[in-house]
Amino acid sequence: MNAVEYETVQIEKTDKVCLLCEDYAKRQASKPIVVMCCEGGCLMGEVARRAANVLCSEFAREKTARLCLGGAFTKDTGQRALARNANRIVAIEGCFIECATRMVKGVVPGLRPEVVIADRLYDFDRNLFGIDEMPESRLNAHAREVAKAVAARL
Ligand code: SF4
Repeated sequence: MNAVEYETVQIEKTDKVCLLCEDYAKRQASKPIVVMCCEGGCLMGEVARRAANVLCSEFAREKTARLCLGGAFTKDTGQRALARNANRIVAIEGCFIECATRMVKGVVPGLRPEVVIADRLYDFDRNLFGIDEMPESRLNAHAREVAKAVAARL
């Protein structure tokens, strides 16, 4: 395997605080598993995002905390603390690029998420890319397939 190379980014700091988000992060901190997701804008990312939501709000609601990727990546507040302090963290990635994992590893050194490549868990026409190229019902069905498969591993 080639040596890992890094790219340096500068994230503009903000003093804005969402109190609802901070309260949520505190409430979720006692849950045993944190779930993050790439939140990508293509259909693979959309399926992953929906899968993470179904997993955390329905299939494994009691044991999973749904991480806000943007909040964790851009601010050192409650969401990043959720990732940093997680005993177990699962990354549902839309595809092999693994954006959520690489992003959060950049701000939480030593993070070792269990990575799930969502688009390997369902069948679809791989010539499709945009969210508008797949019917809503198929996006939801694939998201539920992924969430079910991840739930079975928890
Ligand atoms: S992991 Fe794939 S689908 Fe998700 S944001 Fe990255 S490139 Fe997009």
